[in-house]
Amino acid sequence: MKIEHQDGMGKLTPTTDEERRAFGAWVAQLERGARLRYKGQGPRDGDEQFWTIVLEAAGVRHNVRGDDEADKFKVNGLRNVCFFGPVGGLLLVDWAFQEADVRRPLAYVLVSGGYCKLCGASFIDESSAEWKVCRACSEKCAHELTPEEGLTHNFSTGRLSAGRYCTKCGRVPAAAKAEA
Ligand SMILES: [Zn+2]
Ligand SMILES: [Zn+2]
Repeated sequence: MKIEHQDGMGKLTPTTDEERRAFGAWVAQLERGARLRYKGQGPRDGDEQFWTIVLEAAGVRHNVRGDDEADKFKVNGLRNVCFFGPVGGLLLVDWAFQEADVRRPLAYVLVSGGYCKLCGASFIDESSAEWKVCRACSEKCAHELTPEEGLTHNFSTGRLSAGRYCTKCGRVPAAAKAEA
């Protein structure tokens, strides 16, 4: 599965016949807006990042697995969106089939990690999911920092950071950043 970010959504493009067939049959029986519940991660390849997450809807589970070294970080990002985000998984926004093919194999699926509580925009990145505030709103935010330093996620490093963070959007402004 190729995983890209597009307009605050995740675009999942199957890259094998099996993914096109099985994943396509699965989403085709779901409603748009359906919740794909997070059911944990698949086997790891030995390091700290995940290659596979398991999603469930309509009583059926499917794996989302990256294709290559770069994808595993994207899969890990999706895992964090599922784990820390408001949905407990991903929302199925839309999908498309390859109309030219008589068997209608799946072309792609669009998923959301949830919607911004301030502007309603879809998000698919980890910080937005954790705080339910999209990136654009966080950049416009008049940050109100916590009085004390606390631990907050720094998804760019995969570690917890110590610092003062905004109580409204959760971001750690650069001036207040103190890496753990
Ligand atoms: Zn927003
Ligand atoms: Zn803020």
